[in-house]
Amino acid sequence: MAVYSKKIGIIGGGISGVAAAKQLSKHEPVVFEATDSLGGVWRHCSYRSTKLQTPRCDYEFSDFPWEQRDNSSFPYSGEILDYLYSYAEHFDVLKFVKFNTKAVEIRFKGDWESKSDEYGSPLPGKPVWEVGVQTNNSQTIQWYAFEFLVICTGKYGDIPMIPKFPQHKGPQVFQGKVLHTLDYCKLNEEESTELLKDKKVVIFGYKKSAIDLAVECAEANQGPQGKPCTMVARTLHWTVPHYSIWGLPFYMFYSTRASQFLHERPNQGFLRCLLCHLMSPLRRAASKMIESYLTWKLPLEKYGLKPEHPFEEDYASCQMAILPENFFAEADKGNIHFKRASKWWFWEGGVEFDDGTKLDADVVVLATGFDGKKKLKTIIPEPFRCLLEFPSGMMPLYRGTINPLIPNMAFVGYVESVSNLHTAEIRCKWLSRLVDDQFKLPSVEKMLEETTKEMEIMKKTTRFFKRSCISTFSINHSDEICEEMGWTSWRKNNWLAEAFSPYNSQDYKDKK
Ligand SMILES: Cc1cc2nc3c(=O)[nH]c(=O)nc-3n(C[C@H](O)[C@H](O)[C@H](O)COP(=O)(O)OP(=O)(O)OC[C@H]3O[C@@H](n4cnc5c(N)ncnc54)[C@H](O)[C@@H]3O)c2cc1C
Repeated sequence: MAVYSKKIGIIGGGISGVAAAKQLSKHEPVVFEATDSLGGVWRHCSYRSTKLQTPRCDYEFSDFPWEQRDNSSFPYSGEILDYLYSYAEHFDVLKFVKFNTKAVEIRFKGDWESKSDEYGSPLPGKPVWEVGVQTNNSQTIQWYAFEFLVICTGKYGDIPMIPKFPQHKGPQVFQGKVLHTLDYCKLNEEESTELLKDKKVVIFGYKKSAIDLAVECAEANQGPQGKPCTMVARTLHWTVPHYSIWGLPFYMFYSTRASQFLHERPNQGFLRCLLCHLMSPLRRAASKMIESYLTWKLPLEKYGLKPEHPFEEDYASCQMAILPENFFAEADKGNIHFKRASKWWFWEGGVEFDDGTKLDADVVVLATGFDGKKKLKTIIPEPFRCLLEFPSGMMPLYRGTINPLIPNMAFVGYVESVSNLHTAEIRCKWLSRLVDDQFKLPSVEKMLEETTKEMEIMKKTTRFFKRSCISTFSINHSDEICEEMGWTSWRKNNWLAEAFSPYNSQDYKDKK
């Protein structure tokens, strides 16, 4: 059994894996990518109509601006892939990537003492992990050994989350077609139109993939034979038509230092805690202002789509979806219907709900999300597998990257923010300096204490805390990262800009 030995291995070639490969390039890492392409979700988990929801100037690498970065339109997934490939080619990252190479097993080869309070050296000079990979679906496993492993397998895509159904009421009893959005993404334009055209389609879910799909369904069903599709929502979330609220730019509410000052953050002292408490009416007022705009602008009440929780909670859990332009126009034409239900199952002609009503269907699409943790659990070995998450379901990650209890391994792409590209890139910069010994990690106990505090803040801010989102304190998170890297954390040129202009990747160029 041949074992190839390298310093650093990276699993996954999406945005996070490419960011990690670029930042760690001086160590010539090996990047394993299961598919034949870079880009992850933008390649395998997108429809024809999928667009970025983050403004493009926020979703960019700090040293590689979009060509038309001031273009306010949201790029399609294909444009994001082009941008990512240009970046990878420009920085000569492609040479590190082994395509069609899936990591199927990881073995720990280091010395590990669960009680040790020291994290240890990231590059100890001998292999710590072995990764077994299968190339081009071959059954043979090739082994590689690494001193440090970066896991970038992504939170979305690959493994669908399928609802559980009562016995004898699952998809097998339904005479129509059932598929998950992941299967839908694999269809070409002709196949997807064929699937939806003149069919009674029921879509389960009310997040971005469900909303985009409803619009594709409505578009395929124009004309006299067309049938309306029905979206079934269990939990409602706030949706936003554009990044402007009562004429004010959206970033003013959450993306500046002044606006984030109103929000709780981890590791705040007693005084800040008190201040945050006193300022909570202001925070609520900002959320209410957005809610009032959305309720005025969109027919949420007409369609029973107004969420009961504050907007702030969706923002704090990275669940805010940008609406496709014609979503409510199609609903007004009668091409999209809505239903609220928490329990449902199949009957031979369609789906049945816990309120006793039934819906006829030809096609049922499950826009029910993905099981990103299962992806991790299939490859991370015990005893580390059971340390991946806390009982709350959250992953304890120091600086959103290091699990203090898992040696010589980093996780990129598991903590989210408004721009996951920026969130991944700055953490990879931090990681490259950690690997180069430019700073030391605190003790395991201290890191656990910090991650616990961070998780407590997330829990306090939103009922959807399991998503590990830092969007209401992202600037503070970056400040701490900068300080650890020896950079100045206040990165604007003057106080006014520091307080009131938004922070994005361009503020974190490797200049100071
Ligand atoms: C529909 C959709 C819209 C989105 N819109 C936005 C947005 O507007 N703004 C935003 O910031 N974020 C958005 N996101 C979040 C998005 O997931 C991140 O922005 C980012 O692309 C995640 O990149 P990643 O590399 O972490 O994960 P992924 O893109 O999931 O990439 C993971 C890669 O790892 C590979 N892989 C997995 N397992 C293995 C294995 N065992 N061996 C080898 N390779 C493996 C996969 O093939 C894949 O290429 C969206 C996500 C989706 C699904």
